[in-house]
Order: sequence, then C-alpha cells, then structure tokens
Amino acid sequence: MIKLVIFDADDTLWAIDRGFASLLKPPLKRTGLDSLEDAEGKKLRLFEGVRELLNSLREKGILLSIASSNQYNPNMVEECLKTLDLDFFVYPQVNYRDKGENVKTLLSIIYENHGEKINYDEIIFVDDSEAHIFNVKNLCPGIKVLHLGSDISDVTEIKNYI
Ligand SMILES: [Mg+2]
Repeated sequence: MIKLVIFDADDTLWAIDRGFASLLKPPLKRTGLDSLEDAEGKKLRLFEGVRELLNSLREKGILLSIASSNQYNPNMVEECLKTLDLDFFVYPQVNYRDKGENVKTLLSIIYENHGEKINYDEIIFVDDSEAHIFNVKNLCPGIKVLHLGSDISDVTEIKNYI
C-alpha cells in the first residue's frame, strides 16, 4: 500500500518560465487558480489535473512531499506552494543534495515526528529527470520510481499506481 508520494517540483508539478523556482524573484503574485507570476512577470503554471490529483491522494490519506533541486534560501519552492494554496506537503526537501539522500532524510523526519515508519515499497517517487530517478532507485531499493516522460506521460497517471 502506498503511504507517501514524493514529487519533484519544476517540470513535474508545474511548468515555469525560468526553468527553476529558485530563479523566480519575490514577491510572487497569484494570477489564477493554478498560476502565479514573479516580480518580473515570469510565469509558473501547475500542470493540468495536478490540483485534483493532489486532493484525491490526500483524501486517500496518502502523505505528499517534495524533493526539489533548488536553492533553499530564499525557498521559492515553498513560496510557490504557499502562493498556490498547496501548503500541505510534509517536510519539503529543497536543496542540492542527492534526492535519494533527501528521501532518507524525509523518512527519518516523519518517523521522529509522527512515529510512523514508512518502507521504501510504500513510496512513489516521481521526477522528470532521469538522473534523479536513477539516484533514488539506487539509494532507496524497492522504492517505486516513476519517470515522467517514459513511465508516465502525465503526472496524473500516478493514480494508476496507488
Ligand atoms: Mg524537474
């Protein structure tokens, strides 16, 4: 049974003009239900169906988190999530460490704070980068990895793996 889904952010949850959330300039302004703009007019837009997917996973009681290769300070990934009213991800890992290490860190934090032990085979990790997929698969044996672009063509297909 899947207990946790860990998402990459850029090009997985959203499309973004600058390529990386950490390159956006604050303050961010929400321009629609699923879109925002930075101080220089650069746009970020959630992919279609993402909000519905996240809500349906939450309704099933599945924890959602983020592993994003972005600069932490200022943490523009969390700013984007807050601006879009998606601040329900648990302990987002935003840094330049290996994503496999971030998955391990995340599991320790969840265990320390909630006493819940989640095994690798209870997790889905989704990313558009093959390098990150490879890294997570190697460091976290048994984890279900989904490469956006080959395993799935649309992030909403995750629901077929739950
Ligand atoms: Mg990405």
